[in-house]
Amino acid sequence: MKIICDWDNCNKVGSYKAPIEKDNSRKFRLLCLEHIKIFNKKWNYFADMDNQQIEYFIKSDLTWHKTTKGFSSSENFFNILWNNALEDKLNIFKSSNFKDFKKTNLTTTDRDALDIMDLKYDAKWEEIQKKFKTLVKKYHPDKNLGSKKFEDKLKKITLAYSQLKLTIGKK
Ligand SMILES: [Zn+2]
Repeated sequence: MKIICDWDNCNKVGSYKAPIEKDNSRKFRLLCLEHIKIFNKKWNYFADMDNQQIEYFIKSDLTWHKTTKGFSSSENFFNILWNNALEDKLNIFKSSNFKDFKKTNLTTTDRDALDIMDLKYDAKWEEIQKKFKTLVKKYHPDKNLGSKKFEDKLKKITLAYSQLKLTIGKK
């Protein structure tokens, strides 16, 4: 029995192994020659990126059309990278946004916290405090008939704020 190429809408025979996860675990899918070539090209595309570039790439508006957060498993992480890999994406690292992103020198945790609070990466502590007050008012359960959804959101915001207080707040 021959195995068919795993690429979408391809029905050639799949004879080439393509790893499913970036950590080179044993999981793989079989592709035909044409598609293994495309696969390898994309794979190399990420090999040249450093962690900061990959993080920016994932979070970039250009990649996602909106900012994303909270990918946790490596499988999900890699799928995200994979699904968004396009030839011209290196141009995003020439953008002024990426230069700002690099300049800030924040940890991933701080950046996530700023994302949660919907703040820019260059936000000053005063700005963060002000935003926190606004968000607390907005999501306070008393104002939202005790909605569980808003309560969780407020919890996240409070954790993010506590994190930023330890780092940016002390500068
Ligand atoms: Zn194929």
